[in-house]
Amino acid sequence: MRSLFKFQPSHRPPPEPRKGKLPVFTAGQQLRLFSAGILPTLIPIWATQHFLGYVWPLWAKAVWFGLVSQSINDYYADFLNEMGYKWGYLDGDKPRDKIPDEYVDTIFVLGLVTPFVRLGLVAWITYRPDHSLSLSISDLPLFYLKLFLVSLFLDLFFYSYHRAFHEVDFLWKYHKTHHLTKHPSPLLASLSDVEQDFIEALVCPYLGLLIAHMILPMTFEEGAMILSFISVAEIMGHTGIRAYIEAGNTALLLRPFGLELTVEDHDIHHREGWKKSNNYGKQSRFWDFVFGTMGTRIECKPEMIDWKLSIFDDVPPEPIQEARSVEQEKKKL
Ligand SMILES: [Zn+2]
Ligand SMILES: [Zn+2]
Repeated sequence: MRSLFKFQPSHRPPPEPRKGKLPVFTAGQQLRLFSAGILPTLIPIWATQHFLGYVWPLWAKAVWFGLVSQSINDYYADFLNEMGYKWGYLDGDKPRDKIPDEYVDTIFVLGLVTPFVRLGLVAWITYRPDHSLSLSISDLPLFYLKLFLVSLFLDLFFYSYHRAFHEVDFLWKYHKTHHLTKHPSPLLASLSDVEQDFIEALVCPYLGLLIAHMILPMTFEEGAMILSFISVAEIMGHTGIRAYIEAGNTALLLRPFGLELTVEDHDIHHREGWKKSNNYGKQSRFWDFVFGTMGTRIECKPEMIDWKLSIFDDVPPEPIQEARSVEQEKKKL
């Protein structure tokens, strides 16, 4: 893992607040980007099995996917910081927070260890020694359905613990560290007390995987890729980028009902929430809708989203600047 310093937005001057429409980073774009990163990592496992008849032992697969997941997390933390500088941030006249000095070591260790711990859970639930890996495009729709199910069930347990930690007096002390940040940045997803770490790194993924696996059984490789994508969604939710960025693991099926989670939803949870809050889900707004705790978006309103403008495009001129330059031109004439 590279230096944490590089991944923190506070090591550069903040970008000017923007007023123009928000670009999009949709579920489809995210799935394509994630697939381009992770699918090639299956090739060594498949090739040794297909050409040499050698099936990787579980420990080798776990080490491999642990390193892959760490690299993907690093890539996204870096990429999303760049997107923040490019497009600015929500509540843009406030700087994004950096990791408090006393939590730097903890967050560094969590970044190293969490992917491996989660892979242990995946192995526990899904691993079968007689399974052989097959690569087929036709498996992708079913894979997405498994990703959706794991995310939704994980989110149910996340929602339940998260809301309880906010609303039950004696539990709040285990969650308030995470709320030290009002304007989080990617690595602050891991700013938490040890009780919260335990529930988020182990309990919620375990229960989500277990229930989804009972409905749609998955392979170790599928489980590993699913948890890697969920980690990316967790990092994304703490970026505060001023863009329409939805949680790609659930948004494809939930956006038609307005229940997709966007970066702004969890950003508002941090900005406005303390003991009383809303937007408790971290993979979707489904459970917030069911239990009546959905918050109101401020900047990410439908009329402010430009569906033709992608976060990969160049930043268009600001509308106010355009208006000013027209005024200046008129004065010159
Ligand atoms: Zn909270
Ligand atoms: Zn958070």
